[in-house]
Amino acid sequence: MAPRKFFVGGNWKMNGDKKSLGELIQTLNAAKVNADTEVVCGAPFIYLEFARKQLDSKFGVAAQNCYKVSKGAFTGEIRPVLLHCFGLSLGIPNDPHEAGGSPQLIGQKVSHALSEGLGVVACIGEKLDEREAGITEKVVFEQTKVIADNVKDWSKVVLAYEPVWAIGTGKTATPQQAQEVHEKLRKWLKENVSETVADSVRIIYGGSVTGASCKELGSQQDVDGFLVGGASLKPEFVTIINARQ
Ligand code: PGA
Repeated sequence: MAPRKFFVGGNWKMNGDKKSLGELIQTLNAAKVNADTEVVCGAPFIYLEFARKQLDSKFGVAAQNCYKVSKGAFTGEIRPVLLHCFGLSLGIPNDPHEAGGSPQLIGQKVSHALSEGLGVVACIGEKLDEREAGITEKVVFEQTKVIADNVKDWSKVVLAYEPVWAIGTGKTATPQQAQEVHEKLRKWLKENVSETVADSVRIIYGGSVTGASCKELGSQQDVDGFLVGGASLKPEFVTIINARQ
């Protein structure tokens, strides 16, 4: 089995304008980045074309969301296949806890994005009260099951473990906490999908990753990369891309 390629996603969310994103892109293009790492930037919709044109081709560009059906009267939604127009190959079918997305809706979006030829970063993660109640495992397994029920080809799926209490809070999971959940998720995939999928699918961590925390997190056996919000808008994103060097 080939080693899993390290994956670092920058999730710019609803931040930046042409000036600030243009500067960030210049920094990324000029940086020395590990060729063994797959890097993808999730740009706001209106900057997708700009990001794809400006970013060096070694970086991928992703949409931050896409809808669950091909067409219809859905104000403000976007169909995955339209994203190909921007040369995109990946979508992040939004965070389960942002934008009020239920796990079921995420599952439908994942299924549809894959059927229209996009890859996906599918996010799962427990809330603080769920962790404190000792039900982290139960919660993330249930969420992963909904995703697994909607995936036939896992080669285009990256699973992102994003504990809700760590997203945008500055409270990063410890390397041990991340490794523990990732290892259990891999075991769940082995038992419920297949050994090949468990060995090959990338499970990345997201939640307040910084230049300072990325090295130790990224050295954990089952942590195959990161989904980075705040720090992906800063030059330290380069340090995070190069965490596994
Ligand atoms: P954060 O965001 O790095 O700002 O915590 C992570 C995410 O939501 O992808």
